[in-house]
Amino acid sequence: MKHKQEIHRIVVKVGTNVLTDGTESVSSDTVANIAREIELLRRDGVQVVLVTSGAITEGRSLLEGSGLYAQSSTDASTTSKQVLAALGQIPLMKRWVEAFDGLDILTAQILITRRDVQDRLSYLHARNTILNLLETGSVPVVNENDVLATDEIADVNIGDNDHLSALIANLIDADLLVILSDVDGLYDSDPFLNPEAELISQVDHVDEYILSVAGSANERGRGGMASKVNAARIAMESGTSVLITNGKSPGSLVSAVTSNENGTYFQSTTTNVESRRRYLLSEYANRGVVVVDDGASKALSEGASLLPVGLVQSSGAFERGDVVEVRSEAGDRLAVGIINYSSEDAKRICGIQSEDIMSVLGYEYGHELIHRNNMVVIST
Ligand code: GLU
Repeated sequence: MKHKQEIHRIVVKVGTNVLTDGTESVSSDTVANIAREIELLRRDGVQVVLVTSGAITEGRSLLEGSGLYAQSSTDASTTSKQVLAALGQIPLMKRWVEAFDGLDILTAQILITRRDVQDRLSYLHARNTILNLLETGSVPVVNENDVLATDEIADVNIGDNDHLSALIANLIDADLLVILSDVDGLYDSDPFLNPEAELISQVDHVDEYILSVAGSANERGRGGMASKVNAARIAMESGTSVLITNGKSPGSLVSAVTSNENGTYFQSTTTNVESRRRYLLSEYANRGVVVVDDGASKALSEGASLLPVGLVQSSGAFERGDVVEVRSEAGDRLAVGIINYSSEDAKRICGIQSEDIMSVLGYEYGHELIHRNNMVVIST
């Protein structure tokens, strides 16, 4: 069965169990295979953001291999995990960079915590950076910034990139989140204990039954089905469908994009556009209004960004990163969007060409007052 909508942008989450292939260290072959599949998808015009685990495992192998710090490597405290993640992030990235270099693909590193996604400005920066990286054709490679993410790794001994991958999918309006697992998907009972267990091929709602078959968070570790199903619920409610599929089967990533057959498919319950509109409207705090001329108003309805040249006046006190309302001179509400300049800046750059922002302000945050990626136009 094909996906209901076309797939243009995806997030691929690959966990430690898949990367290590059941061993104590990350397998370069697995990394190379996943990179090759990502390159095939990119050739087909699909934008891919990779969320990778494996830093803690890499750090541990490095320490154990060095023989110098054998004692600290056996310390299971959070501090130690953060130390291991800091040590292992570079070798982990080195593997991805080498794999993508061989395919002539540039790799970018994004380290992020869940708190960053909740912060207004960090959210804007992360979203803009990842979307712009995708425009350059590079592959953004994301991992949790474990050194800063105390809350996330303290209670369960290891971080949760499943959850993070759902937040990233929401952040960049992905059409599909592919969670590569070491099992084929979600089963109606534990396939390791019950040989009769059957794969659930499609989930329309994450209800009590689905939660119960996913088990508890601690079963088979944090990377088990409970956290995957929880991530799937977050993603599907924000407009991203999810496929949990076996990352060890060759071709699984490419087939995840062309069909939703192999694995457990969670059909999104809303669209990206609707979800972004809801987000913007929920963030809208009535802080400011920008009034634009007819030219800008027409450009907005055609999908363009709002430039300072089209700005007639602004009112209210808003900061860079706030959600503001865009109105026509006649007072019609045209759009809501995240503004790149504060109300003070907006007054100074009102009506000017974008090329002149730098000379007027002495700094600039891009040519757009509101980028089209960060705006929802209200259809009349
Ligand atoms: N961020 C951790 C790492 O790179 C792993 C988190 C997870 O597996 O969910 O090792």
